Amino acid sequence: MGSRKKVHAFVRVRPTDDFAHEMIKYRDDNKTIDIHLKKDTRRGVVNNQQTDWSFKLDRVLHDASQDLVYETVAKDVVSQALNGFNGTIMCYGQTGAGKTYTMTGATENYKHRGILPRALQQVFRMIEERPTHAITVRVSYLEIYNESLFDLLSTLPYVGPSATPMTIVENPQGVFIKGLSVHLTSQEEDAFSLLFEGETNRIIASHTMNKNSSRSHCIFTIYVEARSRTLSDEKYVTSKINLVDLAGSERLGKSRSEGRVLKEATYINKSLSFLEQAIIALGDQKRDHIPFRQCKLTHALKDSLGGNCNMVLVTNIYGEAAQLEETLSSLRFASRMKLVTTEPAINEKYDAERMVKNLEKELALLKQELAIHDSLANRTLVNYDPMDEIQIAEINSQVRRYLEGTLEEIDIINLRQIQEVFNQFRMVLSQQEQEVESTLRRKYTLIDKNDYAAISAVQKAGLVDADGHLVGEPDGQGFGLGVAPFSVKPGKKSKSKKMFKEQVSSSARKEGASSPLSGKDLDVSTSKTQMILSSKDGDVKDMLVRDRETSNTEPLASDSPKEELRPPRPSTPPTKPVAFEDFKNERGSEINRIFKENKSILNERRKRASETTQRINAIKREIDMTKEALNLQKSLREKQGEYENKGLMIIDEEEFLLILKLKDLKKQYRTEHQDLRDLRAEVQYCQHLVDQCRHRLLTEFDIWYNESFFVPEDLQMALKPGGGIRPGMMPLNKIVSLGEDDQDRFGQLQQTTLPEGPDSVSFYNAKVKMEQKVTWGIWVSRKARPQGPQYWDTQDGPPHFRGRGGKRQPREIQSPRVSGYLLPTPEWHTVVVPQTLARCGHGQ
Ligand code: ADP
Ligand code: MG
Repeated sequence: MGSRKKVHAFVRVRPTDDFAHEMIKYRDDNKTIDIHLKKDTRRGVVNNQQTDWSFKLDRVLHDASQDLVYETVAKDVVSQALNGFNGTIMCYGQTGAGKTYTMTGATENYKHRGILPRALQQVFRMIEERPTHAITVRVSYLEIYNESLFDLLSTLPYVGPSATPMTIVENPQGVFIKGLSVHLTSQEEDAFSLLFEGETNRIIASHTMNKNSSRSHCIFTIYVEARSRTLSDEKYVTSKINLVDLAGSERLGKSRSEGRVLKEATYINKSLSFLEQAIIALGDQKRDHIPFRQCKLTHALKDSLGGNCNMVLVTNIYGEAAQLEETLSSLRFASRMKLVTTEPAINEKYDAERMVKNLEKELALLKQELAIHDSLANRTLVNYDPMDEIQIAEINSQVRRYLEGTLEEIDIINLRQIQEVFNQFRMVLSQQEQEVESTLRRKYTLIDKNDYAAISAVQKAGLVDADGHLVGEPDGQGFGLGVAPFSVKPGKKSKSKKMFKEQVSSSARKEGASSPLSGKDLDVSTSKTQMILSSKDGDVKDMLVRDRETSNTEPLASDSPKEELRPPRPSTPPTKPVAFEDFKNERGSEINRIFKENKSILNERRKRASETTQRINAIKREIDMTKEALNLQKSLREKQGEYENKGLMIIDEEEFLLILKLKDLKKQYRTEHQDLRDLRAEVQYCQHLVDQCRHRLLTEFDIWYNESFFVPEDLQMALKPGGGIRPGMMPLNKIVSLGEDDQDRFGQLQQTTLPEGPDSVSFYNAKVKMEQKVTWGIWVSRKARPQGPQYWDTQDGPPHFRGRGGKRQPREIQSPRVSGYLLPTPEWHTVVVPQTLARCGHGQ
């Protein structure tokens, strides 16, 4: 099994009284047959004709009984078939040499029965000897005549797939003849009946269809399937034994052949020579393609020639001198066949049904085993079945609670549950990703970094500089347009001055925390998509595209700084970026100027801080070098011997100078260090003011934008200074949704939305009227104040920081609206209260 095996080739000589003793000789080994051919005298004196041949086969069967032939040729092959090995026994030779006699035998004489009935007998005998196995036997009988397939058992009733005409089909299991009836035989007798039926059909056909039975190939196949009666064994073996009685191999002389005979001869010659080619190819180890499909015979025998079969060839020859040429040719075929090697292997299959049953049994057993382990480990009621929807939903909720932090941990129950937990984690994660993305998309316009057209449009509109940073940031920190922090949004106003203060101090407590809109989170250079902040309803990209399309036809908003000179409101509002530019030129010009000024001061301070740092580093290096030189001096002095005078060490001038230098350097270092500390505090402070300015600029812009393009004309008046309502005191959507019928509700809204109730309206009206004349008082908390004395200018409009030593200092913009709206998030406590507010108090 598994090892290569040669084809067994036997030669059987038909008994004769006229045996050519001089020409055919057997050697003593019973295997070798020598042929001697007399020289053809007609070929003249010079005659190179070969006259001697020697063929060594597996056995020469001379005058052998049918019994002996079976024992020698077939017995092993048949017994191996019951173990799952395919077998092929083939008779080859010229017509009348005894092929049919060898294969089928004389059907009228039991003693002279051939290999076929004996094989059937052996199969059934072996079945009887193997009660442990359930073995089924089926047979089929195929005839190939002139390249046509005939079912020699078609006359019998047959239950099974039928197809006419029959075709040879290949599938992974092997080759089979579609349409050939395969008959189940449960006992020897049935099998014989089938054989005889086939033989009879063969003879009848030769008469009715004018077929010469010796001119066809016949293949009798016994199919064996053996299953163990032990139920647990799901493996079973299958095999087939092909018993092949080939057509006569003799070459018919062309002169003698005509009509039917010529046609038969052509087909036989072809099929036998194809068989020979296939055999030669099989015998050649280097060949990987075997031409099986060239004729029906080789195709039908594809998996029975060579391959994993036990293969036997019986070459039938005549003993008479007259047939010597054909005998020689048959022996040549036999010796070629002997070169073929096969690799017999068991055809093992698996019974799916039995396998499932066995696995189910094993599963039940393992579950019991698990239950025992669970009870030993005090784990009760663990369910190992697949989870249902309710259980999955529960796991989903656990995962969500775990992520929220309301569930400390998720208990491990079993493997299935762990897998489901991971599964749900993945689902929740992907859901959250989608939610975050859609929230961002609702709020912001995402520009693809690779979308150069969009980027350049944004740059053109002045929102992003060439490096991809949002405008307004010296260090790449972007900022938003028109989005106010939640705490300062209209409708979230503090109700009283007390609350206002609390808010300030609570935001101050978050020291170092940047405003959610500081833009630090939106560094465009690090994110894959550039993010441009726009108001909740704005789509900057869209706006920009529209802007580009309309820029030639529609004049942009006027550059005039005076609001009154602004042209009539356009039917479509300008894009935010464009409007922002306008805003910076008109209402926002002052804030923008201060913002820019503060920024340049901040930059200048930063530069100075960095220069100071460099200087400090240089001084530090020099200190180190001086120290090293001093150490060297000291060690030299120690080596040369030290001098002392009244307890004082005497040192040379060089060392003395070094000590002085070191002292001086240390002093410088301290001074510069102090300067750096001051500068850092200043930078921090300036940064805060810049942030504040930026925030104010954006908020003002938002109000201005809404007021200019969205608030209905009739409400404009009310929104103007002295008009009763300040823009931004209530959410825009509430204002624009107001109809005439809503006036009453508007009144109520004012009462609920305005910070200090209905009374505050008149307060704010009065305050707005005072706006231009207001003088400011500033309280700056001492504890967080930057180093050094500070001077605050309160005479010249909005207060700005004069700084120390009369230097130019960043200005702090103070909102004229002190309602709590527009509160900065200072890093220290800066509370600015207009004196008017202080004077009036509130609730007036
Ligand atoms: P083939 O099938 O090769 O054409 P057959 O098997 O039909 O030849 O044999 C032709 C005749 O020779 C038959 O009558 C057969 O009984 C007889 N014959 C062949 N071989 C033997 C043998 N070994 N012993 C006795 N008779 C034989
Ligand atoms: Mg025959």
